[in-house]
This record gives sequence, structure tokens and C-alpha cells, in this order.
Amino acid sequence: MKIIGNRSFDILIANHYSLITTYKHTMRTFFASILLISSFSVTAQFSDSLFVTPSNRGELMQRLMSIPCGIHATDNVKTICQKLEKFLISYKNDPNFPDDKFAKAANWQALKSVKMGGYGIGAVIYENKTRKILHAAHNSQMTKLRSDLHGEMTLLNEFEDNPKNKKYRNKYVCKEGLTIFSSAEPCPMCFIRIATVGVDTKFCTAGPDDGMTQRVQCLPPYWRDLASKHKCEKAQSSPVMQMISHVLFYSYMLDNRHV
Ligand SMILES: [Zn+2]
Repeated sequence: MKIIGNRSFDILIANHYSLITTYKHTMRTFFASILLISSFSVTAQFSDSLFVTPSNRGELMQRLMSIPCGIHATDNVKTICQKLEKFLISYKNDPNFPDDKFAKAANWQALKSVKMGGYGIGAVIYENKTRKILHAAHNSQMTKLRSDLHGEMTLLNEFEDNPKNKKYRNKYVCKEGLTIFSSAEPCPMCFIRIATVGVDTKFCTAGPDDGMTQRVQCLPPYWRDLASKHKCEKAQSSPVMQMISHVLFYSYMLDNRHV
């Protein structure tokens, strides 16, 4: 064994610590890069042009692949659902978007529907004061073979049928202070049902070809007046939650399950 002098030993120790410091710095940079990449991915912006109705399956797949959950062009519906489910489970609500809690819950319901062979629209009803979700449901047209069971309709039917919710209701309408949060903008049928029930509405993604919010002026005067008594607006949810709502809404294009 080579015996080294004190000075050489000091140099060796110094080199040793220098190596450790370099290693620590490298690891710090490595993990910081991962954090930066993942935070960029989750907070990624999506241009407005990506929220129009996709013209074909290929366009929808491009949008699915823009979500940072590893979807590939060759993935089938089952695999796509598994990847979106994993992403939603690990997703931490973005504090910059106060409605993310409801967006995540509504998207979870929408995904549940797609997994069951149905349409990807989910909805929750919550109490404004406590922000507590009182009930959650999803579109059930395919599973129950009922033309009326859109996401918001199923939600309201189940909510109204549950005796536990009597305290939130006044005969057939709801008391003030509740909001329905839907993954997608309400269609004319759901819009009128919600107006009749008398609660506010928020939605995660706009329905350019079927949404009613921008078309209230088309209603007969009675329904227009009734609808004006409560807000129906786009929620403050993160871009990635909006994109998930959007792609789930059009997910019927993946396997042509639309009638
Ligand atoms: Zn509807």
C-alpha cells in the first residue's frame, strides 16, 4: 500500500469532498430539471384552436397525446383510460385555479362513464358555502339506454331522489347556495333543467357546437328570464383539466360508439 504524506492526504480529502459536492450539485440539477419538466407539463397551455370540435379521430388523438400522461397514437380506448386515470389520481389541484377540485371530480365521473362504454361527461353538485360535493354522477344514456340521461340530468335525478338531500330543496326546486359543475358546457336540455331547478352552473370545457350559454337569446321569453336568474359560466380550472374534459367529451370518436 502506498503511504501518502499529510499534504497528499489533505488533497485527497479535498478532492473527495469536491467530488461529493459535484455529485450533489449534479443530482440537485437533475431533480430540479425533472420538477421543472413535470411542472411545465402539468401547467402546459393549450391553444384555443385545440378546443374546437375535432374533425376526426386523428385530431382527437393528437389532443390526447398533448396531455402529459404518455398516451401513444396506437393506444386503444382501454389503455387511454388507464393512462388518464393514473394521471387524475396523481393530479394535485392547481392553487391558481380555484375550481380545479370540482373539475377533477367531474372529469373522474366522465372517465368512469367512458370506461363503462358511455359518453364522457361527468358532473357534481356542491354547496357554495362549504365547497362540499354533495353528489357526483355521469352520463348514463348508453348504460341505461335512456335518451334523457345526460350527465347533468342523471346528477339531478339522483340528487332529487335521495331523501338525504331534502334540506337543500324546496319542493321541486333547490334552495339558494348550490352549484352544478359539469365537465362540459350544458346542452339546451340540461340548461333548461338546471334553470328550472334554480342553481348556478359552472363548466370545464365549452361546447362550441352544442353548448347553450352563448345562445340564451334563442330561448322563448319565459325560459330566457328564468335562465337569467342564475349564473352559467366557464369555470376557473387549469388548462390540463379543461383539455381532459374536452377529449373525454369527444371520446366516442375513438371507437365510434356514437349512435
Ligand atoms: Zn345535456
